[in-house]
Amino acid sequence: MENCIFCKIVAGEIPAAKVYEDGEMIIFKDIEPIAQIHLLAVPKEHFKLLSEMDAPRTALVGCMLAKIAAFAPKLGLDGGYRLVINQGEDAGQTVPHLHIHILGGQKLGWA
Ligand code: AMP
Ligand code: ZN
Repeated sequence: MENCIFCKIVAGEIPAAKVYEDGEMIIFKDIEPIAQIHLLAVPKEHFKLLSEMDAPRTALVGCMLAKIAAFAPKLGLDGGYRLVINQGEDAGQTVPHLHIHILGGQKLGWA
């Protein structure tokens, strides 16, 4: 999608600190981390909201969760991690391309 910053990262048009990539998703470092480890898991296909998930997208997001779990130890997240998906304005979603925040590397507060 034009003018989507995450589509541009997927296309390699703007740089990102990638830590994982396969045919369906990439994981890269958040540019403004709010935890010791703050990564973003992003599907290569553009869609904004969980409410846009049809059956293939549901499977895609399920695979993303499984891959995050599988790679967590290699990402330095042995001690645990938190996954966050901001949806829409009230949640403060700023990038309109579905993404999963992966937070860890420290004891996380709840707020
Ligand atoms: P959200 O508020 O859930 O939409 O989160 C968007 C996240 O994307 C924020 O945590 C931003 O810091 C992050 N972000 C925005 N632009 C970039 C970028 N070019 N590279 C890495 N992370 C980014
Ligand atoms: Zn996009």
